[in-house]
Amino acid sequence: MSVLEEVLTANRHYVEGFGEKGDLALPPARQFAILTCMDARLDPAKYAGLSEGDAHVIRNAGGRASDDAIRSLVISYKLLGTKEWFVIHHSDCGMEFFTDEVIRGLLANSLDTAALGPDGFTDVGEGPGSAEGAYVDWLTIADRSQAVVDDVARIRRHPLVPGRIPVYGYVYDVRSGRLIEVPAATAAGAVTA
Ligand SMILES: [Zn+2]
Repeated sequence: MSVLEEVLTANRHYVEGFGEKGDLALPPARQFAILTCMDARLDPAKYAGLSEGDAHVIRNAGGRASDDAIRSLVISYKLLGTKEWFVIHHSDCGMEFFTDEVIRGLLANSLDTAALGPDGFTDVGEGPGSAEGAYVDWLTIADRSQAVVDDVARIRRHPLVPGRIPVYGYVYDVRSGRLIEVPAATAAGAVTA
């Protein structure tokens, strides 16, 4: 079965058990949001105990507080009433394994998938690539805890984010499934109003 067929088959089963979920309200019932990494090992519904309708989950590479992540968070409180936010990065994040310079070089070389070895990513494609990568801020991670602090602090000081919303900073441990607080991040995200 192709991935497409697998997904559509799984969806048919999901629909069979959908039950009362069609009556869920649009605003998240538990009034909170999680910004986290797209890493396939992370399942916020499981690690944070979410059901459909409970919370907003905003995901990108690294779980970074990009302009677009903040756009979603602003909509999350302003239109849909969330009152607490979590920024959750994780151990062994792929965003720790390259820099802007590296991914720009890989993309300039080819658009094929690079190989990951002990010395990082190397390009194995034929090319041509594109120089467009030079115009993207890839928001890579040099220091795991500091990145959580930086993202929480950026959200806290954003002019469209009210001081009444606490922003908690955590790292998810991919070996144990545990959420580990980054106290400096949570302190940076403390309510100010
Ligand atoms: Zn990640």
